[in-house]
Amino acid sequence: MAKAHVLVLPYPAQGHVTPLMELSHRLVDLGFEVTFINTEVDHALVVAALRASSGGEAALGGGIHLASVPDGLTDDEDRKDLNKLIDAVTRHMPGHLERLIAGLEAAGRPRAKWLVGDANMGWSFEVARKFGIRAVSVWPAATAALALNLKIPKLIEDGLIDDKGLLRRQETFELAPGMPPLHTSQLPWTNAGAPEGQRIIFFDLITRNNKLNDLAEMTVANSFHEAEAGASKLFPNILPIGPLSADRKPVGNLLPEDGRCIKWLDGQPDRSVVYVAFGSLAIFDGRQFQELAEGLELTGRPFLWVVRPDFTPGGLSKAWLDEFHQRVAGSRGMVVSWCSQQQVLAHRAAACFVSHCGWNSTMEGVRNGVPFLCWPYFCDQHLNRSYITNVWRTGLAVSPDVDGIVTKEELRTKVEQVIGDAGIKKRARLFADVARRCVREGGSSYENFNRLVNLLSE
Ligand code: UDP
Repeated sequence: MAKAHVLVLPYPAQGHVTPLMELSHRLVDLGFEVTFINTEVDHALVVAALRASSGGEAALGGGIHLASVPDGLTDDEDRKDLNKLIDAVTRHMPGHLERLIAGLEAAGRPRAKWLVGDANMGWSFEVARKFGIRAVSVWPAATAALALNLKIPKLIEDGLIDDKGLLRRQETFELAPGMPPLHTSQLPWTNAGAPEGQRIIFFDLITRNNKLNDLAEMTVANSFHEAEAGASKLFPNILPIGPLSADRKPVGNLLPEDGRCIKWLDGQPDRSVVYVAFGSLAIFDGRQFQELAEGLELTGRPFLWVVRPDFTPGGLSKAWLDEFHQRVAGSRGMVVSWCSQQQVLAHRAAACFVSHCGWNSTMEGVRNGVPFLCWPYFCDQHLNRSYITNVWRTGLAVSPDVDGIVTKEELRTKVEQVIGDAGIKKRARLFADVARRCVREGGSSYENFNRLVNLLSE
């Protein structure tokens, strides 16, 4: 009998599209029919990036049906403004999703039986229910991050935050034994990356989604039990099925990959290259950009650095940039605007990962045994940093100076410390073995994934 038609809906951001697409490939491999629903803007970017890298239409989606709905914003509105995006998505996307579902049926596609939806798009579970579609919730990040969300009432009761999510006490706490210690100023919704207005909107979204998640019959996370034993014990119903990976299938990149860097890596010695990337959202001001660039030069090591076109919104001095490029071009360093990070981290030349600690980046570094130099930017990245430096001990973190700047000397010193630390290297390698074992037959994530497949096969 043909397997069910499953709708997959990510929150509109790279770090959500990627893991949900990885999960979709796994389902397609098992015979499920998957329709992957991006926002129109993201869909156009994904298709353009796929065309640029595959050169043809045939490989688009790799067996996944790609669909799209409007996000409710006009073309010229700023999608980086969390207030606007969240407001538009929650207000307008439910109606668009309803029309899409009705349209799929009218076009003769099999009736969708399941929605595998991002836990951050809780409203979609209500839409599914209207159509008699059953729902599974996907948490694309650390179980500990979802645990923090779900424990908000306790954080309020304990007097750490108020009922708007704002700080009442400055202190470091652990939700449960074995969980990463976190300072209250680094809670995902309170940390310094976002202005206060956005924080409240974000907190509001989280508390709404906490309730809507109950509409899903199962919650899975892109993590693994052995990485988060404390969080898994606290919430045994959140099933870790990761680390998810793509095996070279399309992951829904929103920017085209620059494939030249893999050839460049091929020419570098084993475990020699400092890989530097801050995900899809982090931004640096000109001063910090310059310190980082000069710090990389100072290490005297080869480096591969991802600088997205929107990475430094204030712009940079063209003269300085030209000089920098001239000094490092060729064997010393390579700067690209996007790469296949999964391929880069799996490359034998990767020595350490200077990372913002987005959860996908974290899992990708972990399963390839690459030590981290953590440079968190916002949201759950501080929590993920705490896992790396305090719990798994597979990396160190940069320390900003009194002006909040990570200086070039600090970068050089920490890169040397990470690369020179035999303990970090060994733990990273052993942890990668654990991560890989758990997705193989008999492993904890493998078993949890089977539970998901059994449910979707009902
Ligand atoms: N990524 C990539 N190429 C790049 C930079 C990033 O493919 O040049 C991918 C990376 O592999 C990861 C995702 O973008 O899967 C970023 O997600 P993450 O959760 O690490 O960070 P976010 O973008 O959400 O801050």
